[in-house]
Amino acid sequence: DNSKKTVNVRQDFAILATQMNQQPLIYLDNAATTQKPQQVIEAIMAYYNTANANVHRGTYTLANNATNQYEQARTTVAKFIQATAEEIIFTRSTTESLNWIAKSYESKLQTGDEIVLTVAEHHSNIVPWQQLAQKTGAVLRFIKLDQTGKVSLTDAQQKITNKTKIVTFAYVSNVLGMRAPILELIKLAHAKNAITVIDGAQAMAHFPIDVMQLDIDFLAFSGHKMYGPTGIGVLYGKKALLEDMEPLQFGGEMIDEVTQDTATWQKIPWKFEAGTPNIAGAIGLAAAIDYLKKIGWQKIISHEQALMQATFKNLKTIPNLIIYGSQVPEDHYGVISFNLADLHPHDIATGLDLAGIAIRAGQHCAQPLMDYLHVLATLRISTSIYNQSSEVRKVAKILKELEAFFKS
Ligand code: PMP
Repeated sequence: DNSKKTVNVRQDFAILATQMNQQPLIYLDNAATTQKPQQVIEAIMAYYNTANANVHRGTYTLANNATNQYEQARTTVAKFIQATAEEIIFTRSTTESLNWIAKSYESKLQTGDEIVLTVAEHHSNIVPWQQLAQKTGAVLRFIKLDQTGKVSLTDAQQKITNKTKIVTFAYVSNVLGMRAPILELIKLAHAKNAITVIDGAQAMAHFPIDVMQLDIDFLAFSGHKMYGPTGIGVLYGKKALLEDMEPLQFGGEMIDEVTQDTATWQKIPWKFEAGTPNIAGAIGLAAAIDYLKKIGWQKIISHEQALMQATFKNLKTIPNLIIYGSQVPEDHYGVISFNLADLHPHDIATGLDLAGIAIRAGQHCAQPLMDYLHVLATLRISTSIYNQSSEVRKVAKILKELEAFFKS
């Protein structure tokens, strides 16, 4: 039973010992946000208790300490994805990172250029590109999924052409939990001299990502989906691309010299970080990365695969339940979307909540994918390192009870 392996991990998350509706909390909405371990909370507290000062401008020791911790956090993030520190820009979130890239390409695209996405994108990787297309006259093209829910490489070959300037997609879908064929898609894009923008929001907590090996041009992700705090995100960009990009916000910290009428910019990455950054957030994110490293990818991956198998096994005992996308547990990275008979997902989620179970029901910020799958909404179980097979067993048991209840 994989629950034994997770005992130490569970002790790090105080919230897991709480009750919800007089039942032990079963938290299975990790794709929305993960819980935070004590190590992350303590790192943030320690920063405020011992090192708080504004960064990059102090001439005194305390400010230098804060600056060192903030820049050390940047180095930790860089090493985590095999990048260099100057290629890491701290943002607020995946959403902000994606918006920045889209905005910066307003001056680089023209009428008739094409931006290629997949039909499985989160709204935050659709709407910024819609805006870019409207402003520049560029056109959006969507790669389809195959029968099993995988991004179709056959269709990608049709959609990625000489007109393509940007290819962007989620590494892992927040609805289907399936991984895009990233290497192949990036090769197709680069063969046409298009840049690649990867939405890493749902990938970072589940397996290692090497931006060098994958030859990723831009990568966006959020701290809060990988055991870090909210309000901190990352935009990775290849050095040459970032140097070629204009800053998007202006103010203190990002400047080199300012006169009454003009200003020059700092070097990357600072030229993008206007104003006082989220220092504590960056430090908290670095603590989350240290936490993941301490557990180790091997343990994380084998635990999560065992959980996906247990979830499938339990859900498959319910006759009228359909799972979207691949029917192979190993194809899912922490996320399974499903529906139960013709019952409304919101009714089921409310019933589960009464049993202390937190799972998501709705469109998951992916309305175009819902349309593509011809469903109005789904239920979504999303797991993490602290979940146990006993928890998904309980979900299946309550689902059966709810089906019987709603039928009668
Ligand atoms: N992309 C994907 C695939 C996501 O799952 C999410 C969060 N649900 C986002 C982008 C947006 O992340 P954030 O809200 O942290 O900006």
